[in-house]
Amino acid sequence: MNVCYENIRIVSPVQQLHITGYLWIKNGIIEYVGEQRPDVPNDVEILKGNDLVAAPGFFDMHVHLREPGQTHKETIETGTDSAANGGFTGVVCMPNTEPAIDSIQTLEFIKNRSANNIVNVHCCATITKARKGDELANMLSMVEAGAVMFSDDGGCVESADMMRRAFDYTSPFDALLTQHCEEHSMTKNFAMHEGSVSADLGLKGYPSVAEDIIVARDILLAEYCGNRRYHAAHLSTKGSVRLIADAKKRGQRVSGEVAPHHFILTDEAVRGYNTNAKMNPPLRTQADVEAMWQALSDDVIDVIATDHAPHTFEEKMVEFDNAPNGIVGLETAIGVACTQLLHRNVVSLDKLIEKMSVNPRKVLNLPQPLLQQGAIANITIFNPDAEWSVIPERFLTKSKNTPFTEYQFKGKPVRVFNNLKMVDCML
Ligand SMILES: [Zn+2]
Repeated sequence: MNVCYENIRIVSPVQQLHITGYLWIKNGIIEYVGEQRPDVPNDVEILKGNDLVAAPGFFDMHVHLREPGQTHKETIETGTDSAANGGFTGVVCMPNTEPAIDSIQTLEFIKNRSANNIVNVHCCATITKARKGDELANMLSMVEAGAVMFSDDGGCVESADMMRRAFDYTSPFDALLTQHCEEHSMTKNFAMHEGSVSADLGLKGYPSVAEDIIVARDILLAEYCGNRRYHAAHLSTKGSVRLIADAKKRGQRVSGEVAPHHFILTDEAVRGYNTNAKMNPPLRTQADVEAMWQALSDDVIDVIATDHAPHTFEEKMVEFDNAPNGIVGLETAIGVACTQLLHRNVVSLDKLIEKMSVNPRKVLNLPQPLLQQGAIANITIFNPDAEWSVIPERFLTKSKNTPFTEYQFKGKPVRVFNNLKMVDCML
């Protein structure tokens, strides 16, 4: 690998770098980045970068890799292939594997299985043992083993007392707790968002207030326990972003993420009982979607994270009520984000890169990749203007449960560099 892009837009918000120039990468190391043409030897492949953007590698802090335990849906190998194909160089594996990531052994297993991968795989470990909600996991030992945050994702820590104890227990090592915000007593057997569409379709609804209640409770607990670090996962309601905004204004160390489907689709997508429009949290209303745009624009929401949740075709090909929640998202994230946010001027290019690369690492206290000479290239190259149609057969994820089949997007990943490796995105 010895390539030099010319006329490429190079955007690295943490370095306040936004230039059009040259980017030369040799054997995975950045040889040169700048506006002046470098003196490159003859064996360097010169690539026209006219339509392309080079950014610090994109990072998805909410991915279900399914291994160990559910390798018929995804494996660490297919999940990371999918991530690289979607333009990501780093992911966080969520803990609802089987067994759950509640021990050093499972954490080490995932670390070993993902070693030498082009995609850096980090682990979110559980707050409670086996995600059962009745006993705290040994979070200190898992921090020492490399866990970057804690959550019982897949479900919520139901007991306020347990959540309070989790904040107190992790206070000496200042761990990040992240919550799947769902008040379970209000959402039993839900199939979709509670509203006029669920009434039309005769499906059991999940009212948006059931999300808001947990966001509010956790913000109060995080404050009460001494301004603890708290991250609200996959926000979907207008009410929750208002709560996050208020907490930030008061100086709380609170952050939030939104999944691409929650800023492009509404519960209308469920009409026709398409099980690929079934996820948790469910698709909400247009007012909620617009609240997401505003929150992204105002930096109330810090992070775009996919909540990539693979399920097999057979698992999804059942009655709507019985289908599992979740969709794959790694390979459509850049397309949705560019189409819905960048090209509609909801966010600038720099802000898009902040939400997909800078802020997830900032929230997790991970080092930021720099686009500078001598650094190991950890870079996402994408074409924000490339138009393409989604063909799920091209995905590298093992499952193809996407609601975006045949959607036209404008914005496509092109290539990723990381860990001295390079992968071309083929979508
Ligand atoms: Zn979740």
